[in-house]
Parts: sequence; structure tokens; C-alpha cells
Amino acid sequence: MELSRRDFLKASGAAGIGGVFLLGTLDPTEALAGSQKFLPLKKKIGEKTTICPYDASGCGFIVAAEGGKVVNIEGDPEHPINRGGACAKGASMRQLSADNPWRLSKVLYRRPGGSDWEETSWDWAMTEIARRIKDTRDASFISKDSGGNLVNRTEAIANLGGSALDNEECYLLAKLTRALGLVYIEHHARI
Ligand code: SF4
Repeated sequence: MELSRRDFLKASGAAGIGGVFLLGTLDPTEALAGSQKFLPLKKKIGEKTTICPYDASGCGFIVAAEGGKVVNIEGDPEHPINRGGACAKGASMRQLSADNPWRLSKVLYRRPGGSDWEETSWDWAMTEIARRIKDTRDASFISKDSGGNLVNRTEAIANLGGSALDNEECYLLAKLTRALGLVYIEHHARI
């Protein structure tokens, strides 16, 4: 059968309207409850529930561990916020676990202009970071703005927080960065 573009649009429009009426007759709660009956909601290994650390939606997850290692993390179907769902960030939460085999365990440094990563020590890295922050702050510190107002700030350093930080770490970082006079303080979930 030959179907013109006009016929196709008419047919899909009718199907769309039909779909709307059909959906209107369904109770989504019943439909969900019905489908959940057939899902294996809990696995038969050690499980704990947790909350996704990535943003304030607070989605619930199930962490499954076996032999002291995390083997699976997935959305908790019994959690009232996400009901088993997970966005791309939440679904990648496995990367945060301490036993993630791909997690870096050594300090790596790539020199300016360099193309290779060099292994270095925490002592060297911490001293270097402190030195660069101090030098940059000293060179860029603004005591008063153009109107003569006391501002005591630097606009040459920014801080980008991450959702893997817990509340206490966020508190300490906020204290440190504000004490240094930073004004560009951000969080990756807001970008
Ligand atoms: S990052 Fe995704 S899974 Fe995590 S709380 Fe936010 S919306 Fe939920």
C-alpha cells in the first residue's frame, strides 16, 4: 500500500489521540504495582540501602556486597522518590566505592605542557598545591573594590566541589575557601 506523507501524518495523529484516551483509562499505580510483582526486587546476597550522594533528589539505591566487596548498585524499587530508577550519574555510583578496581590509588602528576603522567607522593602534591594557592592568592588579592569597599577577595582561584564529598568535608571546604577570599565556589551538580 502506497502511504503519502499526508496520510502518514493523519494516521499518526489519530493514533496519538487514541493513545491519550487509552492512557486516560489506566491507573498508573496499578500498572506499576502489577509489573513490579514480576521483578526480582531483591537479590539474594548481602544488601544495604543507601541514598545517592549526587544531588538533593535523594534517590534510594540498593548496594549489594559479597565477600566484603561491592558487586552491584541499583535503584531501590521500594524507595518513594525514584522507585527503582536511576539517572546516568546515579547509575554510575559504583565508581565511588572504595573497592572499585579502576579507582586511582596513587598520586599522578602531568607537568605543564607534558603528555605523560608521573607517579608522585602525597607530600610533594600537598606542598605543591599549598604553594600554588598561596602564590596565586598573593598575586591576585583585592582588598578594596573600585568603589573603595573592603572586599578582601581573590578572583583568580575557583573551587569546584563534587558530590562524593560528605557534609563535613563540604563544611570544611566552604570554611577554607571563604577564609582564603574565594568568590567562585561551585558544585558540579549545579553545572
Ligand atoms: S543524581 Fe540522579 S540518581 Fe542521584 S539523587 Fe540525583 S536524580 Fe537521583
